[in-house]
Parts: sequence; structure tokens; C-alpha cells
Amino acid sequence: MSVVIFSHGRCLSYDVGQDHPEAASRIHAVQDQLLSSGLDYVVQQRDATPASLEQLYLAHDPAYVDHVFAAVPDTGHIWLDDDTQANAKSLNAALYSAGAGINAVDWVMQQQGAQAFCLVRPPGHHAQYKAAKGFCIFNNIAIAAAYAMQQYGLQRVLIVDFDVHHGNGTEDIFQHEPRVKFFSSFQHPFYPYTDPVSHTPSIVKMPLAAGTTGAVYQQRFTQEWLPLMQEFQPELVLVSAGFDAHIEDDMGQMKLTELDYLWLGQQLKQIADQHCHGRLVSMLEGGYEHSPLARSVVAYLKGQI
Ligand SMILES: [Zn+2]
Repeated sequence: MSVVIFSHGRCLSYDVGQDHPEAASRIHAVQDQLLSSGLDYVVQQRDATPASLEQLYLAHDPAYVDHVFAAVPDTGHIWLDDDTQANAKSLNAALYSAGAGINAVDWVMQQQGAQAFCLVRPPGHHAQYKAAKGFCIFNNIAIAAAYAMQQYGLQRVLIVDFDVHHGNGTEDIFQHEPRVKFFSSFQHPFYPYTDPVSHTPSIVKMPLAAGTTGAVYQQRFTQEWLPLMQEFQPELVLVSAGFDAHIEDDMGQMKLTELDYLWLGQQLKQIADQHCHGRLVSMLEGGYEHSPLARSVVAYLKGQI
């Protein structure tokens, strides 16, 4: 069974300002690399469907969701936080991003040994229960996890976030949720400047110094995280897959390469194979330098095939 990629043209249909790093060209770069690597023959590509309001409410305060819909104008844009601009098209894209996660959960839960990757924007992991943040309007991975628990009655959902930035929104939503175990590695101190200490059993943080190499990353992942992940015995593995910890990505100062993302793809697939019939859903978060982003996504997918 190969990886299914869920995406939608709406995710490429908006702009949040000239020269903004979170640009549609990121998705084009990944699609080009899928073609040039020959991986497009191996993966299946499917159109995502939009999330419903009720599905957004699974992970967000309904008052926040309703506020966003009321506040975003038909023309022009508003700022939901200092970094997060929203317009009618990006709000629409956010529905398809969240919807892709739901499509992907359905896909892996209904197949045997299936993996999915959501090639979407805007990203989601900074969006909190009742607030947008850091380019994120709705928390795609949290909506996917909440949907999986509601729809399929799952009791143990593993979420792994290897973006260079801490997934503060996912922590905010699930810090008191016993059915979720959220592992997040991130450069520290760094945006969004959350507390590096894990305060509840649902949260496992790995703050990393600027300049951390892939060798150190792999060692810490293996020694600190793998035993805890095995012990958790997940029924589903969800991944906030951000690729901005790559050495060539100027958004952060970490030193991972595409070989580390290949390794991460292999490790996460192995955990999914061991515990939950290979059910693995990854959603694109950050990654802003086009070439390393595209190479890293392809390497990460090759690790799962
Ligand atoms: Zn990031």
C-alpha cells in the first residue's frame, strides 16, 4: 500500500502578501519534486474535501470559529494575530486544510496498512483552542485527532511534531486530554516562546539548542522518545510535519538534512506498523525554503514506502 496525498487547489489559491514566506509556491515546489523524483508514480493523489463547522468545533471554541467567519471580509483582509492575515480565500483554504486531515484519518482507518500525507496550507499547529497564531487559522492536526477520537472511538492517539517551532496550539488544545500523547521537538529559545517544560502527562517536549545536528536529533529521538511512544501503544499516529529545521531553511537555526527526514519517515512508519496496522497521517506545517522543503518531503515519504 502506498502513501495517499490529500491536497486541493484551494490551498494554492491565496496569497498573504508579497514576499511572505508562507506562499503557494511552497506547494508547487513539493509537487515539482514529486514529479522529478518519480515518486508521483508511487503515491496516489486525491482531492481533499472541506471541513464542516462541526468538525472545526471539535478542536476549537465555537465562539472563536464563528468570530473568524464573521470577521473575515469578502474583499480585503484582516489580521487575526500579529503574524496571521486572513482573507476570504485563505479562510476557504483553511477549511480544505483541516478537511484533508479528516479525509486522511478516514482513509487510514478504513484501509489496511495505509499512510497519508496532507499537502496543505495554511499550516495549523500554532492555532490554539480560541486563537489564531503564527500563520495558522485552525489547528489541522488537532482537528484530525479530535475527529479520530470522536468518529472511531480511539483511546490512544500519538501526535508527533518535528517542525522547528513548538506546536503551542496543539499543546493548548490537548494538554489535559488523556487520550492524546503529544511529542514536540523544537528549537529553544525560539518562536512561539512557550514554556519548554512539559506540565501534564499528555505533553512531551524536546527543546533543542540552535545548531542541533541530525545526529544529535536522531540520538535523542531514539533514547528519549521511542521508549515512551512504544509504551503508549498508539492506535493512530499523526504527524505535524514541518521541515523548517532543515539546515538550508533560514526560518530556524537547526541543522537537519533530508536524510534525517527520511529517517523520521522510517521511524514513524515503524511505530505505526508495530502498534496500529501502519495507520500514519502526516500534515504539512512549516518549511519555507523551497528546494530543501521539496527534497525533505520526498525523502520523508520515501521513508514510508
Ligand atoms: Zn515552523
